[in-house]
Amino acid sequence: MKEDLSYGRDHTFIPAYSFKSGNTAAVLNDVWCYTNQIVNVIFIGTPETGFVMVDAGMPYSGSALLKAAASIFGDGRKPEAIILTHGHFDHTGSIIELIKHWEVPVYAHELELPYLNGEKNYPEPDASVEGGMIAKISPLFPHEGINIGGHIHLLPEDGSVPSLPEFRWIHTPGHTPGHVSLFRDRDQTLIAGDAFVTVKQDELYQVITQKVEMNGPPRYLTTDWETAANSVKKLEELQPKTAVTGHGQPVEGSELEEGLNSLIQTFPSSAVPDYGKFVKE
Ligand SMILES: [Zn+2]
Ligand SMILES: [Zn+2]
Repeated sequence: MKEDLSYGRDHTFIPAYSFKSGNTAAVLNDVWCYTNQIVNVIFIGTPETGFVMVDAGMPYSGSALLKAAASIFGDGRKPEAIILTHGHFDHTGSIIELIKHWEVPVYAHELELPYLNGEKNYPEPDASVEGGMIAKISPLFPHEGINIGGHIHLLPEDGSVPSLPEFRWIHTPGHTPGHVSLFRDRDQTLIAGDAFVTVKQDELYQVITQKVEMNGPPRYLTTDWETAANSVKKLEELQPKTAVTGHGQPVEGSELEEGLNSLIQTFPSSAVPDYGKFVKE
């Protein structure tokens, strides 16, 4: 194993929890949503077929994630791959522990690579953004790029997802440049990442209670709102029937359809903050 694994210098434990933290929900018979503090980690597969993990949770959650995987798939089982929707700290927080434990390939989009091989840092979270308590504490969040460069593979250009033959990846930038979502046409299942989320992620109270509310990507970390809006449209056009997002509870059916419709209709006022350093005047 190459010793080129390091987190940013600002890697730290974030003491924030939703009431779903530690909960594993069976969304479909082969899609599981494990809530790790304030972020969702998705497992796709069954004990019989094997599985793939999407995203890698919060900092210092390695053992919790290993336990979650074991509780679904059995002790000692490891995923065939880890797919990263993007490189933010709450989606890569325990990736190094997982790589070391499982020695498993990790896949991400080419445009996200600089944040995963130590070349680039994300911009500092915008605490000045219009938004609630989570936005205000967001300067605590790690934003430095991590380095797992020797272990990262690029997602195939043909849109296929390694070890998930029924899924394809969809480039959904805006929240970050190389953000991807995963989609399965057979049953219109969407793994959205942070392209949109089903909780008002900048409001502490909503994050704790996980009240379902369709929202644009988390405000304090989204850098390109126009592109983010187009990405939500791209996902809505797929007419997903079930969606699991990076934050908030899974949604399906008419709640998802109507929620996405109204999010798109109102995006400039509801998703884009009124002010903040990433907002164009
Ligand atoms: Zn994010
Ligand atoms: Zn996130």
